[in-house]
Amino acid sequence: MTQPTVLLVEDEPAQREVLRYNLEAEGFAVIVARDGEEALERIAEGLPDLILLDWMLPHVSGIEVCRRLRLRPETRSIPVIMLSARSEDVDKVRGLETGADDYVIKPYSVAELMARLRAHLRRVRPAAAGMVLEWQDLRLDSETHRVSRSGAEIKLGPTEFRLLSAFLERPGRVFSREALLDRVWGRDIYVDSRTVDVHIGRLRKALMSAGGNDPLRTVRGTGYSLG
Ligand code: CA
Repeated sequence: MTQPTVLLVEDEPAQREVLRYNLEAEGFAVIVARDGEEALERIAEGLPDLILLDWMLPHVSGIEVCRRLRLRPETRSIPVIMLSARSEDVDKVRGLETGADDYVIKPYSVAELMARLRAHLRRVRPAAAGMVLEWQDLRLDSETHRVSRSGAEIKLGPTEFRLLSAFLERPGRVFSREALLDRVWGRDIYVDSRTVDVHIGRLRKALMSAGGNDPLRTVRGTGYSLG
């Protein structure tokens, strides 16, 4: 599994560095933005798994960033945790109406913030959160890195393991080659999209090694899906 990515949007350098340090210590890849405009630019470059979004930002406010994310289908379901110094209930309601998934008031406890973040991550990236994923006769334990089909252990290389994790997180979802490159290889690494096909081929072979049908579907011109 590539590390889950958190986009951290905070204009105050000291708070930004504290959060960045703690997020990296938790095993997250951290992308930083110093204002709302920069946040939107970073998101356009690649979708993070989760966004920590300060409310009061120069140029484009956190609320506006959140509102724009909710308008676009590809960013609509990214969890957003809003950070704010305001504590009035009316603001809380506004934050949630804007589409934030969670709302944390400054000064916050970093430990509590990390716990909330992990909870949201379990929802969107269960494999990255160390959970067991099951679909039909397939089982993947993301903590012990064991994979089995109908109870028989299957040996997978690290890339095939990450590919299968991505599929098991969203059975039925069609992943484009680009989406798989982002998710499995990471966005900063250049890999030819034909490499994806090679590893899909290996994954298929391994999954069918003990008999059973091919659980992966090739969607012509688009990509691949599980089931
Ligand atoms: Ca601020």
